[in-house]
Amino acid sequence: MFEEAATEFEAVHGTRPTGTWAAPGRVNLIGEHTDYNDGFVLPIALPHTTRVTARRRDDGRLRLFSAQGDGQVTELAVADLAPGSVAGWAGYPAGVLWALREAGHRVGGADLSFDSDVPTGAGLSSSAALECATAAALSDLYGLGLTAAELALLAQHAENAFVGVPCGAMDQMASACCTRGAALHLDTRTLQLRHVPLDLDAAGLCLLVIDTRVKHDLGDGAYAALRAGCERAAALLGLPALRDLAPPDLPAALGRLPAELGPLVRHVVGENLRVAEAVERLEEGDVAALGPILTAGHASLRDDFRVSCAETDLAVESAVRAGALGARMTGGGFGGSVIALVGTAALPQVEDGVRAAFRQAGFAAPVTFTAVPSPGTRRL
Ligand code: ADP
Ligand code: MG
Repeated sequence: MFEEAATEFEAVHGTRPTGTWAAPGRVNLIGEHTDYNDGFVLPIALPHTTRVTARRRDDGRLRLFSAQGDGQVTELAVADLAPGSVAGWAGYPAGVLWALREAGHRVGGADLSFDSDVPTGAGLSSSAALECATAAALSDLYGLGLTAAELALLAQHAENAFVGVPCGAMDQMASACCTRGAALHLDTRTLQLRHVPLDLDAAGLCLLVIDTRVKHDLGDGAYAALRAGCERAAALLGLPALRDLAPPDLPAALGRLPAELGPLVRHVVGENLRVAEAVERLEEGDVAALGPILTAGHASLRDDFRVSCAETDLAVESAVRAGALGARMTGGGFGGSVIALVGTAALPQVEDGVRAAFRQAGFAAPVTFTAVPSPGTRRL
């Protein structure tokens, strides 16, 4: 496999690479729109990865190529990298190199070639996979010895400050820190993390991922507005973040907030409770109990946080109608992917049910696959 990547690398960059690094996409089981509220999340890494084959350069140049890019090699001067200076996909890896240097790490140029089977723009965090693979490669090529969590935070800083996407820490922490056979229980305030064993197979269950293949444009602006709404609500309540609102204080808090902020707060408080409950059930070995927690989470995203759309609602409804134990949209929303927890024997009927519902509604056929908790970022 390395030989194949090395041959392609040589064709693009004209030299032999040093190695290949891989970073996975993720699905979040529960804990949506909680990461920028200092709350809790529970993602798993997907078997799908972004691989980067790489070699360091000592002339201060950064050369970037992606099999999923624009067919061009983007060549940049490391010293000139600045937020907003790199358009398109190359901004993600360039941003990682910039973030490393901003943090004081002595990193120079590199030749990087990417290939990926993480669907892009599907709410499965292809951007975090791209960033984490880059960060891991540069850390090793320059002997930085960064930990997985350090890589993740640098990658998040690149996406926030260089690319300009105000995402929380979940996607990069999931891609960098997840482990095979476990979900990652992450406190996004303290970054304390716990690997919670999740053996779907032993429970006779599958996690079906349904990529609706829609991405509604309103997503980007709406995300920033929702984040600002949560921050304003916390400020009005005199709290550092919505994570600090104790569930018993919710009714009183709702009475003190403008009408449009109440539902946002209700979602965040309820969602943090759902993460805690999911972890408890998993620790008792009751994987099936996740089902109703997923469906309740979806209702909250649909009715209170209002980030679902017709396609994700239909995927959830039709999966549950066809026998899934529970389902919800995963990722930021306005399209993207839905996860469904399904008994292995019921998998064909659930996939058929979702497909038939999409056909009837006149929606494009969704892409479906099953996922098991897979390893995080690593050198291959
Ligand atoms: P998501 O992270 O949910 O897939 P984003 O909008 O955050 O969606 O990131 C998708 C963007 O990341 C793509 O539009 C592209 O610019 C970039 N990207 C991700 N993976 C790759 C890749 N393998 N090659 C080139 N660009 C990629
Ligand atoms: Mg992303």
